[in-house]
Parts: sequence; C-alpha cells; structure tokens
Amino acid sequence: MERQTGAVSSIHLDRLDRVRAAMADQGVDVTLLSVGHDLPYLTGYHAMPLERLTMLVVPRDGEPTLVIPRLEAPRVEVLPGVFSLLPWDETDDPTALVAKLAAGASTVAVGDQMWARFLVELLPQLPGATYRRAVDVVGPLRQVKDAVEIAALQAAGAAVDRIAAELQAGRIPLVGRTEAEVSADLGERIRAEGHERVNFAIVAAGENAASPHHHPGSRVIREGEIVLCDFGGTMAGYCSDTTRCVVTGEIPAEIAEAYEILHAAQQAAVAAGRVGVPCEEVDRAARRIITDAGYGDYFVHRTGHGIGMEEHEDPYIVEGNSAPLVAGNAYSVEPGIYVPGRWGMRLEDIVIATPDGPLPVNRSDHALVALS
Ligand code: ZN
Ligand code: ZN
Ligand code: ZN
Repeated sequence: MERQTGAVSSIHLDRLDRVRAAMADQGVDVTLLSVGHDLPYLTGYHAMPLERLTMLVVPRDGEPTLVIPRLEAPRVEVLPGVFSLLPWDETDDPTALVAKLAAGASTVAVGDQMWARFLVELLPQLPGATYRRAVDVVGPLRQVKDAVEIAALQAAGAAVDRIAAELQAGRIPLVGRTEAEVSADLGERIRAEGHERVNFAIVAAGENAASPHHHPGSRVIREGEIVLCDFGGTMAGYCSDTTRCVVTGEIPAEIAEAYEILHAAQQAAVAAGRVGVPCEEVDRAARRIITDAGYGDYFVHRTGHGIGMEEHEDPYIVEGNSAPLVAGNAYSVEPGIYVPGRWGMRLEDIVIATPDGPLPVNRSDHALVALS
C-alpha cells in the first residue's frame, strides 16, 4: 500500500514538474485549475462540479496548494511533497484565499472548465494580471500518454472489444428490440466489463444510422438492416470508444460495397498515423478514399479525436490541425459514410502513436458481420 502511494505520488510529482517547466518556458506565474480533468491528472483528485470552490494553485516555483471546501477534504488522498491542502470553512471567502496564494502573479493560466463565476470573482482581486488558457501549459502534457495511461486505455479498449465480439457473434439480441433497449443492454455490459461509467451507447438502425450521433429511441430493429453501435465509458479514469456495424440478415450489395470503401479508408488513416505526420494528414488519408469512391459528401465529420481522461480531447484529427503526431498521442480513427434517409456506417478504433508506428488499441473484427 505504501509502495503504491509512493508510485502514484511520483507520477503526479513528475507531471507537476513538467507543468512548472512549461510555465517557466511560457512566462506563466501561476496556474489555476478547478473542475475538469487537469486537476485529477496532476493530483489524482477529481473535484465534484459544486458551487463551492475547489482550486489547485500551482506557482511556477514551489509546492501547489489545493484550496478545497472542508467537507470535501476527506475525499482527497494527500500526496506529501506533491501538493498541500488548504480547506476552507463555510464562512470563509475561498476566492480571497486563492488570490492570496496567487498574489503578485502577472500572468495567470486558468483551466478551461473553471466556472465563470469563480473567475469573475477573482479578476478584481488580482489587479493588473493577464490571463491565459491553462491548456497551453497542461494540454501538451496530457496529449502525450505515459505507460500507465496507455495501459489504462488498452484495458478499457479490450473491455469494449469483448462487447463488440459478443455483438458480432449474435449474442446481443437485436431484431425485435428497440434501439433504446439495445443501448441499455450495451450500457450494462460496459459496466459489467469493469467501467465505472457509461459515457454513451449509440445504437442506430437502418436510416437512423445516417445520423452520426443518433439518440437511440423507440425504433424497433428489423431484419435485413444495418445496425451501428458506437459505445464507450470510463474505466479506472480512462475512456473507451469503439464503433462496429452489423447487418441483421443478408448484406445488401450497395452496403457491402460502401463498407469495403469505409474499411479501406479506416485502415489507410490508421496506417498514416506515424510520429511526425500532421494530424490533418490522417484525416486526408481516410477522406481521399471515401471521396474518390464518390461518397465524399456523405463523410460529414472529422476523422477522429484525442482520447484519455476525456472522451474527446486534443489532438483532433481534422483538416486544419497541422500539429504533428507525437509518440504517446491517443486518438480515434472513425471515418463514416452517411446517406440521409437510407443508411449509415462508421468504423472506429482508438490508436496510439508510437515510435514503431501506429498501435491500434481496439482489436475486434473489422468485418461487416451478417447476423442471421
Ligand atoms: Zn465512438
Ligand atoms: Zn470516437
Ligand atoms: Zn481491418
């Protein structure tokens, strides 16, 4: 137990050291992090989104302080030598405590998800300070997953792959059930596979599959149609996300043909994900194939998103993102073809960029399986 705490605190200490180095590089005097995922990334503590202020104050030099409501303090696993706790009582002014810790800072970096309320209250208490987004100092670190994070993503990915395999083996009943029923079934399986949270379980049948983020509803799944399932959750703090399609019966020729194009596009984009390649090139690799086949107008979204503690985070695999892939980037590759009013399809794997090339996290069958 002691050894485990030691290992955990060295991970967080290392991350905080790198944040402080980035702050020094960028001339940031203090970084303020409230709700959101930067806080657990640096401290292991996940703040509840409460009206009571929780804020990690990270000075460029010296130990960070977690300003926290006293009633929440027992939930914090204190990491000695990493950060200290400053609990506040119901009659205290927590913003004044933060301002005191940040006094004298001229450049302040603020987490994206800090509530506007806290920032508005803080502004007059740090006169003359200029503000930046903390994503500049924490984001580049969070985009590069370390070995512990990669293992967590792989474990979460393997868990949803087992559900995908059940789907493809016909062991998740589809015909005669509503999309919502199948979605609830997937959600239960995501939990049973060890996730602490279900983030989404999209089930879209036939023409509904043409809507990429379709909300599963009362539509009953029939025989002979495509069913798109895109599901994921959070397991030990890290997210899973995969999409597989099946057909309830014989696969119509048009759908078989389109799926071959989709599969080729997805594979090309996975293969394009080498270290140093701009993110937009991965998008182009998929889009080129779908466009050349005449379905370009039906591929209506970016090819992928980064994934980690959040389902959608940097780096985004999209035209216009010229940032090169870095070893440790984790992202989805999920091209789709959506023909309005008729059918849709998507194929999604999480991939990790490594010096040896792209490492797919998801391993379930890529085939469009015909379920009889
Ligand atoms: Zn997905
Ligand atoms: Zn995704
Ligand atoms: Zn394949």
